[in-house]
Amino acid sequence: MVLPRISKTYAHALRAAAFVLYAEFMRLSGKKVLVTGAGQGIGQAIALRLAQEGADVAIDYPRDQDRGPAEETCGRIEKLGRRAPLIEGDVSKPADAQRMVAASVEGLGGLDILVNNAGIERRAPFLDVTEQDYAAVIAVDLNGPFFATQAFARHRRDVKQPGKVINISSVHEELPFPNFTAYCMSKGGLKMMMRNLAIELAPLGITVNNIAPGAIETPINQKLLSDPKLLKPLLENIPLARLGKSSDVAGVAAFLASADADYITGTTIVVDGGLLWNYSEQ
Ligand code: NAP
Repeated sequence: MVLPRISKTYAHALRAAAFVLYAEFMRLSGKKVLVTGAGQGIGQAIALRLAQEGADVAIDYPRDQDRGPAEETCGRIEKLGRRAPLIEGDVSKPADAQRMVAASVEGLGGLDILVNNAGIERRAPFLDVTEQDYAAVIAVDLNGPFFATQAFARHRRDVKQPGKVINISSVHEELPFPNFTAYCMSKGGLKMMMRNLAIELAPLGITVNNIAPGAIETPINQKLLSDPKLLKPLLENIPLARLGKSSDVAGVAAFLASADADYITGTTIVVDGGLLWNYSEQ
């Protein structure tokens, strides 16, 4: 059988139609997002995944840090045909949180979704925790999301549009983690902040949810990943018997950012391979 040859014009038209259809079905087409701490790890994976689903994504990195990884994230997003302004901002400083939101609004022409991802840990037995380390963890992990969300909610109120806030919390919003008390306090506080704001911001049409990852392979866990003595007992505690990947968290963030999650607010989605509620008897 001889197949009819299609003209170049027809082929172009087909390709254009396919692109329009593809764009139509991308869940986040036209959405504008800010991801804090998006130069590496979970934040980078979320930024890339949201861009793959059609969003333009502002990439925040902390002031006074190497901007290389964040620039690389922007480059990868731009290759997908999406916009990715680079935003310098230290979430632990309330004035920076406001500037980050304002710069994202300016760079993207609006802001529909905020992902509070930036976070740090400091390991120390409770009796040895310094005032400085305590303050640093609370400032980044709890004050950061508080003031970024406040700036974001004010923006959505002013433009009279709904919005979505996604906080990257942790299983440690529930689960004790000795030697990481300030971290657990921050994530526990983030849980109550999320529940409170889900109610308080609902009249503005803003949903607020947390994602609680378990043990995910990222630079924050470098020490653990390189020490078999630490890794083995952890893996034995995870029913799915593997560490999580950043992409496991990013997929859930894409869902929460999409219209599929419009009726979800005030909740935490746990992404931990079963770690949090693991229990069995012999
Ligand atoms: P990560 O690889 O260390 O990445 C954290 C990112 O946050 C980095 O890009 C870092 O930038 C940025 N950051 C730190 N302080 C900041 C500040 N003051 N302002 C703006 N950005 C700042 O860690 P991750 O594992 O991807 O963690 C991301 C989030 O997931 C955190 O909230 C963490 O608590 C949470 N989480 C992680 C795990 C896990 O197992 N990995 C589990 C549960 C929850 P620099 O590197 O340039 O400082």
